[in-house]
Amino acid sequence: MDRSYGTLQSNYLNKLMGRLTARNQGEYEFHQAALEVLESLEGVIERHPEFIRMGIIESLVEPERLIKFRVPWIGDNGRVYINRGYRAQFNSAIGPYKGGLRFHPTVSEGVVKFLAFEQTFKNSLTGLPMGGGKGGADFNPKGKSEAEIMRFCQSFMTELSHYIGPNTDIPAGDIGVGEREIGYMFGQYKRIQGEFTGVITGKGLDYGGSLVRKQATGYGLCYFVEEMLKEKQRSFDSMTTVISGSGNVAIYAAKKAIELGAKVVALSDSSGFIHDKNGIDLDLIKELKEVQRARISDYILKHPDATYTEGARGIWNIPCDIALPCAIQNELDELAARELTKNGCVLVAEGANMPCTPGALEVFKEKGTLFAPGKAANAGGVATSGLEMSQNSLRYSWDYEEVDCRLKNIMQDIHKRASTTAEEYDAKGDLILGANIAGFMKVANAMLAQGAV
Ligand code: NDP
Repeated sequence: MDRSYGTLQSNYLNKLMGRLTARNQGEYEFHQAALEVLESLEGVIERHPEFIRMGIIESLVEPERLIKFRVPWIGDNGRVYINRGYRAQFNSAIGPYKGGLRFHPTVSEGVVKFLAFEQTFKNSLTGLPMGGGKGGADFNPKGKSEAEIMRFCQSFMTELSHYIGPNTDIPAGDIGVGEREIGYMFGQYKRIQGEFTGVITGKGLDYGGSLVRKQATGYGLCYFVEEMLKEKQRSFDSMTTVISGSGNVAIYAAKKAIELGAKVVALSDSSGFIHDKNGIDLDLIKELKEVQRARISDYILKHPDATYTEGARGIWNIPCDIALPCAIQNELDELAARELTKNGCVLVAEGANMPCTPGALEVFKEKGTLFAPGKAANAGGVATSGLEMSQNSLRYSWDYEEVDCRLKNIMQDIHKRASTTAEEYDAKGDLILGANIAGFMKVANAMLAQGAV
C-alpha cells in the first residue's frame, strides 16, 4: 500500500517526506495521507517561501500531542481485558482539536495519526473554527454485550477525560462509535467532571445533540456530489449508484442519493456485499444494521431476487455510474478502479476517509473520472458537529430545516473553494489538489501568525 516518495519534485518536500517516513516507521496510512498532501503543495511553496523558513510544513506533519493509554474493562465472564486507547491532538492553530473516536481492531498509532492529519485539513475546509484530532481504541465492539460496551466506554472515557474539554478537544463518533457509545462516554465524562458541557458531539437529541448530525456525513457527501454533477449539467437522476459499507455514512448517503433520484443497487459490510438490481430496500437495511445489528447477508432472506457475495471488495465489479466508498481506508484499489471505469463509472466520491489507494487515484486521473477526496466530500459530519457545538454554547436548538440548510451551504462552499483553488493553481477539476491547498492555507497562515509554537 505504501508508495515511493520519489514522486515529489521539490527537493525540500522530498527530504521532508524521507524524514517523515523514517520517524514514523511502519505507519503506512500516515505516510500515504502525508504524501498526498505534500504532492499538492509543490506550487504553494514556490509562491510562499515563508512556509519553509518558518518550518510550517514540518510542524504540520508532527502531531502537537499524542496520547496513548491502557483501557482495562471487565467482560461478562468476570475476566479483565486490556485494550489500548489513543488520542492524536494534531493541530490547534484554528480552534480546539475536533475529530472522532474509532473502535476497531485495526486502530493503531499510525491509523490515528493519519485520521487526525486528514481531519486538520477537513476541519479547515468547513470554515468553522476547529483544529484537527482523532482517537480511538483497538477494541472490537462486534459480538460484545450491551453491558460490555458500556463498561468499555466508561473505562475509555475515565482516562480520556483528563485530556479533553469543550474548549480544548471535542471528540465525536467514527467506525464502531455511534450514538449508543457517545451516550455512555458523555455520561461518564459528566460524572467525572461534575458538569454538563458539550464535550462530545453526536449526542442524542434529548441531551444536547443536533438534528441532522446522524445523517450529516452521508447527506453532505451527496450535496457535494450534486455540485460536481451540476458542473457537468448532470444530476443524480437515474444514476446507478454503488455504495460500500452499511454503517452511518453509507446508510445516509444511500438515503439522500435515492431522494435525489439515484438508483442505489449495492451496499456491503466487512463480510460481503448485496446486489439488488431493483434498487435496495433501505428500510430493511436500517432495520438490520441500526436495530438488529445483524449481517448484511440477511438482506436476501427478505429479498430472494437480490444476491449476496462473500468478500467486500467484489462490490466494485458491479457496473454503475457513481461509486461512493463509505466503509474504510484503502478499500478501493487500482484493480477495482480499473473495473469501475471499464464498466462506465463516471464519478467517485469518498464518504470514508482515504478509501481509495494511490493506485486507484492514478487510474481515475488517467481515465478522467470525476473524483472527490474524503477530506472535502465527507466534511459534512464534522461541520454539523461544529453546528452542534454552536447550539450547545447558545443553549439553543435549531430546527431540522435550519441545520440541513446550513449543512448544504457548507458543502456547496467547500466544493466551490476546492474547485476555485484548483483553478488558481492551474489544475482545473483537480479537487484533491484544490481541497489540500485550500485546507492547508488557512491552517498554515494561522500557524505563521501565531509564531513557532
Ligand atoms: P460505521 O461503524 O457506522 O460503519 C462502518 C461500515 O463499514 C460497516 O458497515 C462495516 O461493516 C464496514 N466495513 C468495515 N470494514 C470494512 C471492510 N474492510 N470492507 C468493507 N466494509 C467494511 O462507521 P461510519 O459509517 O461512521 O464510518 C465509515 C467511514 O466514514 C470511516 O472511514 C470513517 O472514518 C468515515 N467518516 C465517518 C464520519 C461520521 O460522521 N461517522 C465522518 C467522516 C468520515 P461491519 O459492520 O462488518 O464492520
